[in-house]
Amino acid sequence: MTHNEIVACFPHMANYAYAFKYVCEHGFEVKYLIPPPITKRTLELGARVSPDYVCSPFKYCMGCYLEALELGANCLMQIYGGCRLNYYGELNARILRDMGYEFEFFDMAAVNWKSPKDIIEHFRIINPDINPVKVVQALPVTFRIIEILDEFEDLIRHNVGFEVNDGEFDGTYKEFLGKLENVEDGKELKELEKEYRTRLHGIPLNKPAKTIKVGFVGDYYTVQEPFSNYFMEKELAKFGMEVYRQMNFTNSVIHNQGKKKRKIAKKYAKYPLGATANSTVAEAITFAKEGCAGIIQVKSFGCMPEIDAMPILQNVSRDYHVPILHFSFDSQTSETGVRTRLEAFYDMVEARNGRKA
Ligand code: SF4
Repeated sequence: MTHNEIVACFPHMANYAYAFKYVCEHGFEVKYLIPPPITKRTLELGARVSPDYVCSPFKYCMGCYLEALELGANCLMQIYGGCRLNYYGELNARILRDMGYEFEFFDMAAVNWKSPKDIIEHFRIINPDINPVKVVQALPVTFRIIEILDEFEDLIRHNVGFEVNDGEFDGTYKEFLGKLENVEDGKELKELEKEYRTRLHGIPLNKPAKTIKVGFVGDYYTVQEPFSNYFMEKELAKFGMEVYRQMNFTNSVIHNQGKKKRKIAKKYAKYPLGATANSTVAEAITFAKEGCAGIIQVKSFGCMPEIDAMPILQNVSRDYHVPILHFSFDSQTSETGVRTRLEAFYDMVEARNGRKA
C-alpha cells in the first residue's frame, strides 16, 4: 500500500480523534478517518466478537474498528498501558484478521520507545515513506489541540449544570469541534481557541455562590469516554453539581503526572497497583482535600487495577469523611440502575451539605 492509499484510525476515546487526525494528516501525511461516535451498535458489534470476560474498553475498541473498517479505514492503531491493555492490540488484530479483514496494524505496545530506530521502523507501518521531521513538526500543534480540548471540557463540566439556556455549552462546543476538524496549522488553531474561549466564558450562568462539587475518578478509558460511563458527568450536572476530573491526556500524557500522583497516593497505596489505579487514589485524596462533597469511581467490569483501588478508596472515604460511590460498567449494565443510584447519591450528598439545590 502506498501512503496515498492509507486511511488510519484510532478507536474512539472522548474527543481526542481531532488530535490524532492532525498528527496523522500533517505528520504522517496519511488520511485519517474519525470513527463515528460510539453508539449501542458499536458496543454490540464489539461485544459479539470479544471474549466474554474481557474488560469493556476492549469491546469498545473492537466495535470502533469494525465500524471504521466498514467506512474504509485500512490502518488501525492501538495504544498501550500498564495492564493487560498491552496485549489487546495483538488480540484485536488477530480476531479481525480471522474474520477476514485485511489492514495494517500499528500497535504502540510493540514499539521500543527508547529506540529511535525501532520507533521509525514501526511508524513505517502507518506510512512506508515517512518523513520523521514532519512528524516532529506536527507534535506541538497536536499537543496544543489536546490541551485546548481538556481545558474547554473542564470549563464545561464545572459550569454546564448552571447554564441559563439549556444546551448552550453543548451547541457551542460542537460548533468548535466542527471547525477544529479542519485546522491546518498553529495560527488557525490559536484564532479558533481565542474565539471559542471567549464564547464559552461568555455563556450566561445561574450559579450559586455555594455549589455541590463532585470528584470523578476511575480507569483511563471509562472515566474519559462518556458513552462508556453512560454520560455520567452530564447526569451529575443535571442535578446542579459541579464536576471535577483530573484524568485526561493533558495531565497523564503531556504533563506525565503519574509519578506525582503515586507520591500523593503513597500513604494509602505503597506499591504500583497497575494502569492508572494509583492516580485514582491520588485524585480521590486531592478532591477530598479540596472540599468535594462526594467522589464517584467508574470502572470497567473486571478491571483488576481499579478493583484493587476500591478498598483503598474506602480508607480515603473514612479518613476524609467523604462518601465514595463505585460504578462498574459492562456491555450489559442497566441504564435505569445507574440513574437510580446516582439519584440516591445526590440526595445523600445534598443532605450532608445541608442545602437544597
Ligand atoms: S485499566 Fe482496567 S479497564 Fe482499562 S484496559 Fe486495563 S484492565 Fe481494562
